[in-house]
Amino acid sequence: MLVEHQTTRLKSVAKKSPQKNSWPKSAEAFTQACYCLPGGVNSPVRAFGGVDIGPVFIAGAKGSKIYDIDGNEYIDYVSSWGPMILGHAHPKVLEAISAAVAKGTSFGAPTLAETALAKKIIAAFDSIEKVRLVSSGTEAAMTAIRLARAYTKKDLIIKMAGCYHGHSDSLLVAAGSGLAEGSRRAGSQTALASSAGVPDSIAKLTVVIPYNDIEAANAVFRMHKGQIAAVLVEPVAANMGVVPPIDGYLETLGNLCDKNNALLILDEVITGFRLALGGAQELFGVKADITCLGKIIGGGLPAAALGGRADIMDMLAPTGPVYQAGTLSGNPIATAAANATLDILAKEDCYARLEYSAAMLEAGLADAAKEAGIAVTINRVGSIMSCFFTDNPVRNFADVQSTNIKRFKKFFTEMLKQGIYLAPSAYEAMFVSLAHSKADIKKTVEAAKNSFHRIKNEMLDD
Ligand code: PLP
Repeated sequence: MLVEHQTTRLKSVAKKSPQKNSWPKSAEAFTQACYCLPGGVNSPVRAFGGVDIGPVFIAGAKGSKIYDIDGNEYIDYVSSWGPMILGHAHPKVLEAISAAVAKGTSFGAPTLAETALAKKIIAAFDSIEKVRLVSSGTEAAMTAIRLARAYTKKDLIIKMAGCYHGHSDSLLVAAGSGLAEGSRRAGSQTALASSAGVPDSIAKLTVVIPYNDIEAANAVFRMHKGQIAAVLVEPVAANMGVVPPIDGYLETLGNLCDKNNALLILDEVITGFRLALGGAQELFGVKADITCLGKIIGGGLPAAALGGRADIMDMLAPTGPVYQAGTLSGNPIATAAANATLDILAKEDCYARLEYSAAMLEAGLADAAKEAGIAVTINRVGSIMSCFFTDNPVRNFADVQSTNIKRFKKFFTEMLKQGIYLAPSAYEAMFVSLAHSKADIKKTVEAAKNSFHRIKNEMLDD
């Protein structure tokens, strides 16, 4: 019965994901993977469901390059979905990992490296006095809302449509990233929960409003007076593609929270240590009550954190009544990778270099699109950016959904064929790393020129 189900599933996946001949090993690997992993992957976006081609299987990566099992080389702008800000296999990070591995892989007991990492996070973020290390961004956001509910003794959480905060029940409501792809294909964005299996009784405690809509934020506080525990937001939305906050948006959310005895939770899982050492908070001059961190702080290994004011953080067990725990929290190998990564980011002129490369890429893409006569809107904040196929501004999830996804799909495939590895979904960001060279950017822009021209030549209908 199970095998029958797997075979049927395999056939349908194979139909939906026609692999091109230039990736025969990846095609076979995907076929095999579909027999034993749901959808052939361990995280949905990896299945390339948002584009017209099956996934490439990765053999390894170094610096700005990633290599597939068919021997193709790509310039990588996925960056493991954000963590690899230094580029892949950075020698200092590998050295730190090797040294930690030699001493044992997990102790389930405190280590000096955890305190060292917490101190680095506290030094980088003005708003953080204490830190709890966890293993994923999902755990960080899930714990942050539990803390906020306990601290404020209220239940409602405000979340923005198209923002993604991991896959805990309360936050799978009008979510971005892979769920945005799912809701587009299902033709619905208004369903309460973005995932089956989330009880309505839980989903209804999450109130969803549009990103960048100050009036909606004011209205929701008026409507649910005295009931809102927290506003949870990506300070720069990056799971519906990149959408920067409009002027004053984050300050307004902070003021509303202050006035209403609610907490502002900034989910800096993507933006933390990426836009600046102190994340979006440093860039925009705002302060969160609780900050969620992940991705970069693991240096490519599973580590994440939440941090905030001491009076809030001390509500966590064992000092306080809010339970949270993790067998592998503060894992010594992940912590070693994290410490090595943050040390490099703190020392060098990293953020100026990232800005330089990313600005060069943005300008190159814009020029290439203009020359080909293809309308694009490029949203960029520091080293994250998205190239939306539209001539309208993109300020929220509805704007993203009205962009030309068909053109994005074509663009993705054309870029892949030319050795440029972009995120396989119109709802994800491009990540520029410190390993991207001028030559990488130039090659990317050349590939984009060709891709835009091919889109134009094929006159894809809208
Ligand atoms: N928050 C944000 C902003 C994210 O982008 C993600 C993942 O992409 C998460 C939370 C969840 O992190 P993780 O995948 O480590 O659970």
